[in-house]
Amino acid sequence: MVGASLACLLAKKGVSVALIDAGDPMASWPETTYDLRVSALTLASINLFKSLGVWADVVELGEQAVEKMFVWDHFGSGELDIDSADAGEMQMGAVVENRITVLATWKKLQQLDSCDVFTSSQLDNFNVDDDGVDIGLSNGSNIRAALLVGADGSNSKIRQLSGISDYGWEYQQKALVATVRPEKSHQNTAWQRFLPEGPLALLPLRDGLISIVWTSKTETTEDSLKLSDSDFCEALAEASDHQLGNFELIGARGAFPLKLQFSPEYSQQRMVLIGDAIHTIHPLAGQGANLGLKDAVTLSSVILQAHQKGRDIASEQVLRRYERQRKGDNLLMMGIMDGFKRLFGADDMLVQFARSTGMGLVNSSTLIKNQICKYAMGL
Ligand SMILES: Cc1cc2nc3c(=O)[nH]c(=O)nc-3n(C[C@H](O)[C@H](O)[C@H](O)COP(=O)(O)OP(=O)(O)OC[C@H]3O[C@@H](n4cnc5c(N)ncnc54)[C@H](O)[C@@H]3O)c2cc1C
Repeated sequence: MVGASLACLLAKKGVSVALIDAGDPMASWPETTYDLRVSALTLASINLFKSLGVWADVVELGEQAVEKMFVWDHFGSGELDIDSADAGEMQMGAVVENRITVLATWKKLQQLDSCDVFTSSQLDNFNVDDDGVDIGLSNGSNIRAALLVGADGSNSKIRQLSGISDYGWEYQQKALVATVRPEKSHQNTAWQRFLPEGPLALLPLRDGLISIVWTSKTETTEDSLKLSDSDFCEALAEASDHQLGNFELIGARGAFPLKLQFSPEYSQQRMVLIGDAIHTIHPLAGQGANLGLKDAVTLSSVILQAHQKGRDIASEQVLRRYERQRKGDNLLMMGIMDGFKRLFGADDMLVQFARSTGMGLVNSSTLIKNQICKYAMGL
């Protein structure tokens, strides 16, 4: 998602780009199937896709606007309800299946003359010299470029080959993902309940469905995966406080181990990292892809400035400018997500009481709620 968006941003302005992906975007799928991987995209990300001419295709393939957010705690009566209308916006974002965002972006890339796309092609190695970088693919072919951008996810091979260190920790948690049909309408609302082992998010999806991201200890998630469909739906109804009634499971369930990971070094000679390759955060507020898209916007802007002036797009000055502009925001979001995870995971009675009271106080302040809403919109 992040690498293809950067390629689009650059190729649209005439910069010659080669996009190399180990995978191949799905070109079509049976109408009644849903991707287990979905992203809540902020208004800022939607605006990016609109500016790239990608959003119309996303809408055609299917997206779901998020107008409200309702957050509540298993302990006490703490709750928070936020309405984008109060902040003067029609929606705070949208939930889109990842395969839809990827396909719409790739469709746009194929229309751009200055982008060559290499699918089912793995980057195997690279060698940097003063004038450029030689990139070796696993099929034996080579590409010579001025700059190599590593947008290859949290297990980034480019980061590993470059020797850039990564830091962080495993949360010893897994996120269980599934698509369900709720008994009651989702009301275009993103629901999130903080449970003792982690948050349960119920994201509104197209066709009246819900995409769940249910974070628990690894063993609990493994047990939930083994439940029969009906027992799982019953457990889900219970965990969500019956807010949306009962559920019917649509398709399979999946799970992802969660970790926090970051690299303090964003670039080296003629090589730079973006997206999950540089920061992987807890998905509790659905911000990972949105952060990566902000990296793509900033990197494209510094590259384009250099390109328009006929300067080297991979100079240390250019890459450092990108790092300076993004590091603060990335670290802040990482810290907030990690802090939330700890605050809502605490089982100390005093912390639980403070948390519940705090949510109540925030909920009574329109000013603070509007600020949270703007932050959630990525504005
Ligand atoms: C359960 C869960 C829910 C989430 N929900 C949200 C959400 O609601 N909102 C949100 O903003 N974020 C969310 N995230 C985070 C989001 O999924 C990631 O931040 C995002 O996918 C990162 O995008 P990326 O393009 O940087 O990396 P990836 O999506 O990991 O893409 C990496 C790409 O690199 C390619 N690649 C890897 N190695 C090679 C190689 N050697 N050669 C060539 N290609 C290679 C892969 O094929 C892939 O296409 C969630 C994460 C999880 C786990």
